[in-house]
Amino acid sequence: MDIVASLEQAVRTIPDFPKPGIQFKDITPILSDPVLLNQVVEALAAPFVNEGITKVIGIEARGFILGAMLAHRLNAGFVPVRKYGKLPYETVSVEYELEYGTDAIEMHIDAIDPDDRVLIHDDVIATGGTAAACYDLAHHSGAEVVGYAFLMELAFLNGRAVLKEGLPVHSVLMG
Ligand code: AMP
Repeated sequence: MDIVASLEQAVRTIPDFPKPGIQFKDITPILSDPVLLNQVVEALAAPFVNEGITKVIGIEARGFILGAMLAHRLNAGFVPVRKYGKLPYETVSVEYELEYGTDAIEMHIDAIDPDDRVLIHDDVIATGGTAAACYDLAHHSGAEVVGYAFLMELAFLNGRAVLKEGLPVHSVLMG
């Protein structure tokens, strides 16, 4: 079996979690398998190894896990982006639209420098709203966003349509 097929097989779909109608993609079986964990980090990093990435942004909370490993693999720093009110130091924040209402995410104000080359990571891209808001956060700091790396893209939601036009969107798996 090739790497993509074995990763695909390991992701568990949990119906109606955390609420009815959501098909939740559970990536923990990949995390608990040392071989798959190594393979998934390599697969996420592959298009970006020669891109001079200096910071990887990971989105709360599951984006922290592979995001930090991806940063390590790319010899880059890791920057957590969190829900409003969770980060202890001074922050920059951005509001984004949800299906009903708005939400806000934040990053420490000194986490990204204008000369950074940034990769945005999350485990799953659904509507793309969160990743698009991360672009705004990174862009606000003057840094160059180089692309996006996701473990799984829920293609039927067409989240990539709301991401910055022209930037590479790398999804290891399509769901
Ligand atoms: P988005 O709609 O792309 O802004 O996704 C919002 C957040 O929820 C992201 O961090 C996704 O990783 C997560 N998410 C959305 N849908 C799913 C799903 N079906 N399974 C697992 N995580 C999800």
